Amino acid sequence: MMKKVPQDQTFNRVYITGIKDKRFDISIRDGRFDSIVESNPVSDEEALPCRDLWISPGIIDLHTHLAWTDFDHADQLKREPQEIEEMQARAFEATLRTGVTTARDAGGLLPGTAQHLVQTYHVPLRVHTSSEMLGAADAKGTIHLERRLKQIYDTGAGWVKIMATGGLGAPTEKVLDPVFSEEEFSFIVRHAHEHGKRVLVHTWGGTTVDWSVDAGVESIEHGMFLTGEQAGRLAESGVAFVPTTSIYRIAADPKGVLALNPIICDRAARAAEAHPKAIAYAKRAGVQIGFGTDYATPALHGYNLQELDTLRDYGLTRAEAWQAATGNAAEILGWGHQLGRIAEGYMADAVIFDADPYQSNDAESLRKHIVSVLTGARE
Ligand SMILES: [Zn+2]
Repeated sequence: MMKKVPQDQTFNRVYITGIKDKRFDISIRDGRFDSIVESNPVSDEEALPCRDLWISPGIIDLHTHLAWTDFDHADQLKREPQEIEEMQARAFEATLRTGVTTARDAGGLLPGTAQHLVQTYHVPLRVHTSSEMLGAADAKGTIHLERRLKQIYDTGAGWVKIMATGGLGAPTEKVLDPVFSEEEFSFIVRHAHEHGKRVLVHTWGGTTVDWSVDAGVESIEHGMFLTGEQAGRLAESGVAFVPTTSIYRIAADPKGVLALNPIICDRAARAAEAHPKAIAYAKRAGVQIGFGTDYATPALHGYNLQELDTLRDYGLTRAEAWQAATGNAAEILGWGHQLGRIAEGYMADAVIFDADPYQSNDAESLRKHIVSVLTGARE
């Protein structure tokens, strides 16, 4: 079902997701889309394929934690290294099988580990990494931060992740308090950019959203307490927004797969309640919205398409949600010229469905109609 496609391949008379009533003949060569032409109209019914297929660009999840195995990091430390590695390999596999061909890991995964898992377990997921994130323990001034940044660069990561506010672990009245001083924050971003790295910022809202705009980061994550004015600033400055909406809904459910304690569920519920407003502000202002799940446990990896459902529930159209997960996400990664589209010359990362994805009711039915997942040329 998962195919690496360095070899040549053709699809005749397939539909491209989101393009109505047109069929295409698509050929793949050396792992890239070689030609895409509209199929000739046929009068003869017999010339039609025995079943209709739809091709979509591979889904890009901009916020995963593929190395984490437990909601609480302390629980991972109790596991044997071999068990952790096998769980991580299963996370890679589940993510790819559900149609996610590229993932940006938002913290915890070292590039070397990713490479090892891809090769050893033959899972051709494209992974962009940020290594270990910078958080509260690093708010010790710029000399300390410079040392930490060098460690991150030494791992080969292309991204730097800043935990700029609290999250589910923080009490509601403190969750927007900045973790770093503004000086530390802007130092990290400037240093990262000077070293050719991109920056993603965990922020639930508040002043660190403004700092993110001022410093010119690539994306802010979560952002459920974003204001309308801040949405305007994000749009104007080209800072992307990866809201990771579904995880808060899941975390808010005491009987859900995470089964968290009532205090955490309550914080998640407040976050989930705020998210639709943030999405509405972002949509109205024209902020570039990207698809990210923040999935981090075996119960969640492989169910990534649920994020499409939540984005739609919160006000995006189906086409907008799909765009967030393909073209927009590729641009946010800096790979918009090669990934995220079914277009000639682009890498042949794709998902093949045997029913129109735009007609599916939810992620579960979408998942059931995946015929295969293709990953093309390596970058
Ligand atoms: Zn995260």
